[in-house]
Amino acid sequence: MKKILFVIIFALILILTACIQESVEVEISPSNTTTNKPTENQENNQDITNDVTEETEEVITETPIEKDPVEEINIEEPISQDYYMSEKSYDIKTKDESINKDIVLLTFDDGPKEEEMLTKMLDILDKHNAKAIFFVNGYRIEQNPDLLKLIYDRGQIIGNHSWDHINLKNESNEKINQQVEDVQNIVEELTGEKPIYFRPPHGAGNEYLRKKVKEEGMLYMTWSNGSEDWVKKYQYSEGVIQNVMGRLRAGSNILMHELPWTVEALDTLLSSIEEEGYRFVDPRAIDIEYEIPQN
Ligand SMILES: [Zn+2]
Repeated sequence: MKKILFVIIFALILILTACIQESVEVEISPSNTTTNKPTENQENNQDITNDVTEETEEVITETPIEKDPVEEINIEEPISQDYYMSEKSYDIKTKDESINKDIVLLTFDDGPKEEEMLTKMLDILDKHNAKAIFFVNGYRIEQNPDLLKLIYDRGQIIGNHSWDHINLKNESNEKINQQVEDVQNIVEELTGEKPIYFRPPHGAGNEYLRKKVKEEGMLYMTWSNGSEDWVKKYQYSEGVIQNVMGRLRAGSNILMHELPWTVEALDTLLSSIEEEGYRFVDPRAIDIEYEIPQN
């Protein structure tokens, strides 16, 4: 009996030892696979993601580098000043008979007001490969400095339209100086450049204002083609289009505003102008110091 009992106990000890060893192995091996291996995987994944982000970053940094020279060429490409503005009609004329005179000038007054409208206008101008003068007011710039920068950064041209949009005709010289200079200064602060075009609010000026504008190195202009988008009865897109198209001629200096119905009309209007055979003159192609030869 003792022998049998001994054998049973011995067998039990063997089984127990085997079980313990197994369980230890079981405990160890899963822990190896579940903790260590995923860590390696994570590291690998991180490596992969790092590679990917580096590649994407490289792509991102490479693209502007590729684009930059093209943009620089576009900016630095000298714009031939083939045009001048008639001081009588405010039409844009060619210096030379050989230059195509079928051009019009686009201008937008009284902004910058609102990002959504402005962005739509800028997109439409880009679509038609057109440059325009945005005649801005100082008090609007003060409210929306980022929108002024947006106009500038999108490659459009900024003009001075006085600080307060008041009728300058009967104002004192001091007041005129302030209304003109303060806009020059705020635009220069924000963009690094002073405007070289001036349009008086309501088209109303006097001798002193003209002199002051010239001293500031700016071209004084009103307009020759009013969209009348400021007149209540034309405040719908078709009305704006009909007014501009009905008055359109070679050299038209077109006055529009940052207004909802004008924004709505703009794409169709620009297409209609192009269909009539006109191009949009780059304002920088207007020689602001041009003196008509006397002969
Ligand atoms: Zn105005």
